[in-house]
Amino acid sequence: MLYATHAEISLRALAANARALRERAAGRKVLAAVKANAYGHGAVNVAHTLERGHLVDWFGVATVPEGIELRDAGISLPILKLSHSFPEELEEQLASGITPTVVDSASAALVARVAGDMGRVKVHLAVDTGMGRIGCAPDDALTVARRIDELGLVLEGVFTHLPISDTPEGHDFTVGQLRRFNDTVAAIQADRATRDLPPVPLIHGAASAALLGHDLTGLTMVRPGVAMYGMYPDPATPKTVDLEPVMSLYSRVSMIKHVPAGTTIGYGRTWRAPTNRWIATVPIGYGDGFNRLNSNTGRMLINGRSFPIAGRVCMDQTMLDLGERDDHGVRPGNKVTVLGADGDQRITADELAERARTINYEVTTSLGSRVLKMPY
Ligand code: PLP
Repeated sequence: MLYATHAEISLRALAANARALRERAAGRKVLAAVKANAYGHGAVNVAHTLERGHLVDWFGVATVPEGIELRDAGISLPILKLSHSFPEELEEQLASGITPTVVDSASAALVARVAGDMGRVKVHLAVDTGMGRIGCAPDDALTVARRIDELGLVLEGVFTHLPISDTPEGHDFTVGQLRRFNDTVAAIQADRATRDLPPVPLIHGAASAALLGHDLTGLTMVRPGVAMYGMYPDPATPKTVDLEPVMSLYSRVSMIKHVPAGTTIGYGRTWRAPTNRWIATVPIGYGDGFNRLNSNTGRMLINGRSFPIAGRVCMDQTMLDLGERDDHGVRPGNKVTVLGADGDQRITADELAERARTINYEVTTSLGSRVLKMPY
């Protein structure tokens, strides 16, 4: 490790979360969303842990390179690209065994054309029941499903996505979406039966929030992402499963100085020492994904104690106010906890998210590429 700032990734916590979510899924297949480098946790190590432990059945990625990275690392479970594919990426996608999502008849035709004589390529059909992102309208789904058959593709999955399954206010809308989705799937399955085709095996519509809080009737697969990494989708999501945070983020104290009252700290001189003060410098900044909105408001932990941030978060460094007295006990080289636990103190991704006016997903996903992710 050449850089003091690093993330530690608990593969034990990951496996424990996956086991708990599998139990919650009650016999349904589980697709782990490992897009965006497994929400910043390191997709290859995450996928290896989940595959070797037989903890999931599928992986979900957002881009073809994300899928290829997993294939190159030896991942053999099926991988679904959860988004529409452009013509120029499909050939490599199919050659790498990354299952395409089709969103309408045109995108199905495109897959069939690129597949050529590759054999019967499997696809999943996205149905837009209220997310407003990708997928055909429920009323068009039967037509698209038939077109998929006519094109010689195999309809392996039908799925939808739920935009507000994480909070109690979204409950009724989500129930309505799932009802519409189940009706749509029932029509597709009935139509297939009349043509002596087997039912579509993978019916999926629940990411973490719905898996934790909704009735999964009709679904044969669930698609948790954030919960795998030990975070709840929203503070209001029911905590029906105990989750353990997977990522901790650490740095070290690089320098300590004593400054007289009135000294200003950092860019813009936004923090002024109210009295003579001890200041610690820590080599972590927004270049590492530590959001600048932590300036003058955030905190870090050293030796089990919490210290406030003094001044603006820089690109590569942040300063802490150790207080007036010299009994702070902090020394150059001391470990600094930016995310995670130190003694009985803990800084959660939710805390960092609230301060940065974002969601815990973005906190871990924004981790800078120079921050080493160390699995243990
Ligand atoms: N399925 C799809 C289509 C997604 O886009 C995502 C993530 O955004 C997930 C599943 C996983 O969602 P979550 O991390 O909320 O569990």
